Amino acid sequence: MIGPDDAAAGGSTPRPRETLRVLLGVSGGIAAFKAPDLIRRLRERGHEVRVALTRSAPSFVAPLTLEVLSGHPVYREGYLRVNDSGEELHLSVACWADVLCVAPATCNTLARLALGLCDDFLTTTALAFGGPLVIAPAMDSVMWHQPAVQRNVETLRRRGARLIGPVVGRLASGKTGIGRMAEPGDLVLAIEATRRGRDLLGRTIVVTAGPTREPLDPVRYLSNRSTGRMGFALAAEAAARGARTLLVSGPVELETPAGVERIDVTTAEDMQTAVSRWAPEADLVIMSAAVADFRPKTVSRSKLKKRAGLERIELTPTPDILSSLVRLAPAAVRVGFAAETDHVEREALAKLETKSAHFVVANDVSRSDIGIASEENEVTVFAPGRQPLLLKRQPKRRLAGRLLDLFAEELAGRDRGAVAAGR
Ligand code: C5P
Repeated sequence: MIGPDDAAAGGSTPRPRETLRVLLGVSGGIAAFKAPDLIRRLRERGHEVRVALTRSAPSFVAPLTLEVLSGHPVYREGYLRVNDSGEELHLSVACWADVLCVAPATCNTLARLALGLCDDFLTTTALAFGGPLVIAPAMDSVMWHQPAVQRNVETLRRRGARLIGPVVGRLASGKTGIGRMAEPGDLVLAIEATRRGRDLLGRTIVVTAGPTREPLDPVRYLSNRSTGRMGFALAAEAAARGARTLLVSGPVELETPAGVERIDVTTAEDMQTAVSRWAPEADLVIMSAAVADFRPKTVSRSKLKKRAGLERIELTPTPDILSSLVRLAPAAVRVGFAAETDHVEREALAKLETKSAHFVVANDVSRSDIGIASEENEVTVFAPGRQPLLLKRQPKRRLAGRLLDLFAEELAGRDRGAVAAGR
């Protein structure tokens, strides 16, 4: 049997650089039933997992299941144990782990982590652990909204913990609301994102997402099928990597990602106003919104009647927000998106120039397997003077990470340039 003792001995077994040692803390809530799935997914991706249970967790998930899936004995609440090398277990496990993920985190465990209590193995190890902490709260909405809970969440967030979820959905009570634990797939991505560290700390990033709606009368509007998923994935990833992230969102059905400031807008003009307010502070502006290019020239104050007929709708162009950024945020890295059905490359290259963008991320929206309303996307990134870069089909959150790698590199390059120029 391999224990943490061996692992804590300083990683005598060589392992690929990309794999992580994940200490998974499971506390006692219904969502603990997702812990086996999370362990399975982490191990499938090559990560090592050890599990620490709080006192009540075994009422919700069988320790034996977690032992079999992780391939190791689980740690229970007692912590003053010494391993074969004479080290205290909580210290050796804290030293072994690259990431501590607490999923689910009940309100009690959140409170204990926020306060720095050491009343079981998990919290004691958490206090001894100096690495990235990923927390997936899960509880009823009523409890989640309590000021006491929100304060603990804020404390943990300010200390650098990455809070993932909770998300809206069906709760154990049978009601629907916020409180469900984030899905294991999203937690794997958040855990893996810790590898990239907080490389966007100190940066301000504005992301736009979703469609706009251009009204025709009080009930009708022109819009498009954008769901906002790509922009929300970019915002989630930017916040997880430490950026102050400001999200300007058109009407979408998505939860605000953890750590993101959001402003909701309806029309292109509203979006222009919100972006104008935030862009001057931004280091990077990502225009992933599918902004309507035209709006009805006049908006009827009362509902248009069928019997009156409507032969044509006169349209007028909306403000081009991306193009206005040269003036609003001249020092920022500016990124546009190009959703095209034909001549993708030609259109993207034209947009780079006409909109004075540093990057244009193009995707072919004639394909139904990727892009709009899909969980996955495949894009080609264009930048002046560079070879186009194809980022193959992958989940939007992972793709968001790849895109931010590129933009972060551009920002870092500018910093190096500024230092060299003595600015
Ligand atoms: O011109 P087109 O709509 O294809 O350009 C797409 C890019 O321009 C996207 O980045 C989109 O967010 C941005 N855009 C804009 N303002 C508009 C229309 C598009 O910023 N009115």
